[in-house]
Amino acid sequence: MEIAGQVDSRRAVEELRELAELTGGPDGARRVAWTEEWVKARDWLKEKLGEIECEIETDEAGNLWATAPGNSEKALILGGHIDSVPNGGWLDGCLDTIGALETFRVLAPRERPVTLRLVDWADEEGARFGRSLLGSSACANTLDPDEVRGLKDKDGVALPDALAEHGVDLDRMNESHRQLENAAAYLELHIEQGPVLERMNLPLGVVLGTFGVERHAVRFTGQHAHSGSTPMDARRDAFIAAARSAVAFRDDAARRDDVRATTGFVNVSPAIVTAFNGWCEMSLDQRALDADVLADMLAEAKEAARNIAREEGVEVEWERMWQIEPIPFHPDLIELADEAVKEVAGKSHRLPSGPLHDAAEMARLMPTVMLFVKSLRGLSHTKEEDTPEEDLELAVRALHGLAVRAIDWVNSRV
Ligand SMILES: [Zn+2]
Repeated sequence: MEIAGQVDSRRAVEELRELAELTGGPDGARRVAWTEEWVKARDWLKEKLGEIECEIETDEAGNLWATAPGNSEKALILGGHIDSVPNGGWLDGCLDTIGALETFRVLAPRERPVTLRLVDWADEEGARFGRSLLGSSACANTLDPDEVRGLKDKDGVALPDALAEHGVDLDRMNESHRQLENAAAYLELHIEQGPVLERMNLPLGVVLGTFGVERHAVRFTGQHAHSGSTPMDARRDAFIAAARSAVAFRDDAARRDDVRATTGFVNVSPAIVTAFNGWCEMSLDQRALDADVLADMLAEAKEAARNIAREEGVEVEWERMWQIEPIPFHPDLIELADEAVKEVAGKSHRLPSGPLHDAAEMARLMPTVMLFVKSLRGLSHTKEEDTPEEDLELAVRALHGLAVRAIDWVNSRV
């Protein structure tokens, strides 16, 4: 069975331009989920899919599926999201969908041992209501309808009402889980949205998984006092303790491989020129791909802050704001992705993903991998978002090469 065929990567780039023309403009992309522009983009996609022999359906969560049956019901899924943030770029999301479309177009009509499916997830961005990965989390059955029921957009429209306008019943969204009954593997192509590949002068990379996150508020409490009357060795300066801790957190992350530690907000009191600060609160956001490394980073940070607090004569307390576990992708698929990237680009690089993606929801349930293509200047979620066309073409060809390999791999299992 010769299943590969030949993708027309140029056509994919032209279709990206076509979609940008249709639903973008000088201010960027406008394909915000559950709006008219998104429906327009969806209709455009359905028209393209309509030219391919396949079954097209929209599920209970508003996700759009195209299915080309193979000799077995076991399905390889190619995913993406055509929705964008307001004033978004021309690639975030729709490159995944259009790359998948081109791969699907070539592979769907050919005889295959396994079923091939394309999914365009509804509302990956959460741009209107603030809940990202809405359609894919419903499909993964991790969405709690009560958690999002009260969400409103900036005009006061409630999420359930906006969904209903698009034929989606919030309380039935999780029924879309039945779509995954025969799912065997999931692939997604995305722009990197960061500077790593560009800095290495590489067009493509293989994603190892999505970072786990530990996010805390760290509060230091001392005693503020007069900046003139208080000798340096008699101070209980909460800001100094926080600042020294922030440096320690940063240095710990810098010593390790591919992790992040970020101090985001910093608040002090009394915040006047004539006193040092007796109170300081700051955030610490730590990310790593390995759960043990992440736990170790947090333990080190707590110990460093405790020691510094003691030296500065202040108290320190931690409050967890948010946490998510790392979601590693499948080792076999990472290998296959590496092969596919090397085939078209000569060289590959493995890297973690900072942002979350729909693929993270799928990776909880089935073998998953993502490909990244270089983002110029690391910019995304802005109309400045860009990637050279020749690299986009390589990305589409790599996705196709990966899909062909993954079909064989899925077929060989069980
Ligand atoms: Zn995206």
